[in-house]
Amino acid sequence: MAKYIGLLVIAALPVLAQDTGISAERIREHTRFLASDLLEGRGTGTRGGEIAAEYMATQLALAGAKPAGENGTYYQSVPLVGIETQAGATLGAAVWGKALDFRWGDDFVGVSQTQRPDTRFEGEAVFVGHGITAPEFQWDDYKGLDVTGKVLIMFTNEPPSTDPKFFDGRALTYYGRWVYKYEEALRRGAKACIIIHTTPTASYPWEVVRNSWGREAPFVKLEAGAKALSLQGWITREAGEKFLALAGRNLDDLLKASERADFRPIELGIQVRGHLPTKIRPLATRNVAAMIPGSDPKLKDEYIIYSAHWDHLGIGTPVGGDAIYNGAIDNATGCGILLELARIWGSLPRKPKRSVLFLSVTAEEGGLRGSEYYAAHPLVPLAKTAVDLNYDALYPWGRAANVVITGAERTNIYPLAQQIAKRLDLGIALDAQPEAGHYFRSDHFPLAHAGIPAFSIGHATEFLGKPAGFGEQAYQEYNSRHYHQPSDEFQNDWDFTALQQAAEYGFLLGQDIANRDKLPDWRPGDAFHR
Ligand SMILES: [Zn+2]
Repeated sequence: MAKYIGLLVIAALPVLAQDTGISAERIREHTRFLASDLLEGRGTGTRGGEIAAEYMATQLALAGAKPAGENGTYYQSVPLVGIETQAGATLGAAVWGKALDFRWGDDFVGVSQTQRPDTRFEGEAVFVGHGITAPEFQWDDYKGLDVTGKVLIMFTNEPPSTDPKFFDGRALTYYGRWVYKYEEALRRGAKACIIIHTTPTASYPWEVVRNSWGREAPFVKLEAGAKALSLQGWITREAGEKFLALAGRNLDDLLKASERADFRPIELGIQVRGHLPTKIRPLATRNVAAMIPGSDPKLKDEYIIYSAHWDHLGIGTPVGGDAIYNGAIDNATGCGILLELARIWGSLPRKPKRSVLFLSVTAEEGGLRGSEYYAAHPLVPLAKTAVDLNYDALYPWGRAANVVITGAERTNIYPLAQQIAKRLDLGIALDAQPEAGHYFRSDHFPLAHAGIPAFSIGHATEFLGKPAGFGEQAYQEYNSRHYHQPSDEFQNDWDFTALQQAAEYGFLLGQDIANRDKLPDWRPGDAFHR
């Protein structure tokens, strides 16, 4: 009888928790170390960052993974330039004798793309709505206006839509990203491009913008003779209101106007000038790469990639007396999972057919620079890369009810991804905020852009055995109070079960992909199809 009860209890436990051997406690300990103050926020090109990279390489070596970087090392050098706009930066606007000066940090932030120690510019302001030219959606905010030498003022994001055929419905497209805005402004010969921040259009508060741009940011070194914006900047909503008021315009009216296809750019008659004293230094940083060979003589030339960025924001503006941006959730958690996956893969008595590459990239926080660099300089051929399964910022708040694998539905391995969710008794949740464009904000994206089926594995906010609304509340608190703040710190009471589940999910999926006959691909007709 006692035995019988025991069996029942065992049968009621989650099926594969023991089978994979993946340990929540090991993920916890990696996270704790990587998020400690001693690593000083793991800034790109800093001592703390270098220690983090060394730790990743060491742990990968201990897991039995071989060097997959340059010259028989665990590293791929990523040459960047660190650009830090100095606090003396000025931005002013003037019209008919009226003038406004904006305060660095409180009102505006930004950098000059010129990569010069001192940039001054002056130009007329043109409001260009969302700054989008998207022929496939019959949308053009520029309407043929020549904006050469102008200072463009715009909102981030894109026209709101519930129609899947128009800007992909609620989901944010690449056109809605600020990265695209600056690219388009530069293509059109603008002198500067300033985005008016609003929390709804950006989907994050001003502090996130300020913390990202009000500090050193890494850029790929500018090629000689390349065009550059004198300022890619942001101003707060309040500063934006004052700015537009100089031209007798109202921010909400302009936001509304910019949501119509018949919107036309508005020459504001405002003269904008700026001065950006800038500290520049070469930034030597590294991706970490290690591999475990496959067991099939032919298929071992093909690779599954697991990725997770090791960097965070380093030391920055103190908040409540704390200047270390520990990045515990973002992304010590993903690194912990990557290392645990390597340990488990390394301990498999018989390896899967294809090889696996563990890639811990740098400079994610500076704009996905490490993964961009990898996509441009892959260590194994892109055509022989089966998939990239990425981990970025997972929530240690208990046992998750589901996984989020946004992007997987666009690939032909989605049925496999569904089966594995079923095996682990996990639902597949849709991205709760498709409008936030998470798909473009993590390291799988540059690889997807290069044709590799790629997505991140994470969780939604449903946690089992918790009161209703628990996960949502925890998420809101994290997103508004700790995301990209010094308070993203390791907490002793965190429960890493969900991270174990995410690792198990990726492990089983990666293993199945490593053993199947054909390389995965995007569905035919997908923009990323290879
Ligand atoms: Zn981040």
